[in-house]
Amino acid sequence: MIHYKTPEEIEKIRKSSLLVSQTHALLVEYIKPGVKTSKLDEIAEEFIRDNHAEPAFKGYRGFPATLCISMNEQVVHGIPSDREVKEGDILSIDCGVCKDEYYGDSAFTFPIGDIPAEVRKLLRVTFNSLYLGIEKAVVGNRIGDVSFAIQKYCEMDNHYGVVRDLIGHGVGKHLHEEPDVPNYGKRGKGPMMQEGLVIAIEPMINLGTSDVRHLSDKWTVITKDGKPSAHFEHTIAVKRQKADILSDHNLIFEAIKKSDYIKDFR
Ligand code: MG
Ligand code: MG
Repeated sequence: MIHYKTPEEIEKIRKSSLLVSQTHALLVEYIKPGVKTSKLDEIAEEFIRDNHAEPAFKGYRGFPATLCISMNEQVVHGIPSDREVKEGDILSIDCGVCKDEYYGDSAFTFPIGDIPAEVRKLLRVTFNSLYLGIEKAVVGNRIGDVSFAIQKYCEMDNHYGVVRDLIGHGVGKHLHEEPDVPNYGKRGKGPMMQEGLVIAIEPMINLGTSDVRHLSDKWTVITKDGKPSAHFEHTIAVKRQKADILSDHNLIFEAIKKSDYIKDFR
């Protein structure tokens, strides 16, 4: 069953989603060559708890950390560790929080220093595909319209691999709610979107094949061919004219302007 949210509930989801974006923006100060991904996780957890919220991923089905940090060929669900970030890496950071009983969920992929032009293009296309999907998230459209917009741009126009095994989802009093929001699908298919629907749209796009596999840690998903993968995600509320984006990438881009190591890839 899809649970449609009241305006009051949407404001609570906005607060949680903004806290996620503030966490990303804070991390920008610390993302540089030599930093361990476990250090980034510590910083995020402390910041979230200082803001009277709970890290949503920690303990979720046994996940051990606040952030999912996925580097290079890792698609999603990477576990923070002693591994150090280095120049040329890309770092997908997925973060979720629960505050006042409501969840927020957002992800962003950071380039570290200079990265190859083909990888920079992968970030730009994946980022753009998220916003193309969001454009379709209006009352009267169907989930398949969102899915198709992402798939068409990434797969048909840019020849990337659209991950099939992992998808977006409803957000509310649970981190993952109905409906499913795949990054592939058919126009005019799937549930019709109504006012009050809150969903996380999250294209996971691979430079090469769309096929993925799981590492033996049971969490980390990597590309089958070892080529890089990018991930961007917003929590949004469906509206009549234009979706209301509840998380905020602008906060992250503002922080990036001050970073010596992360460049704007747009
Ligand atoms: Mg997420
Ligand atoms: Mg999500």
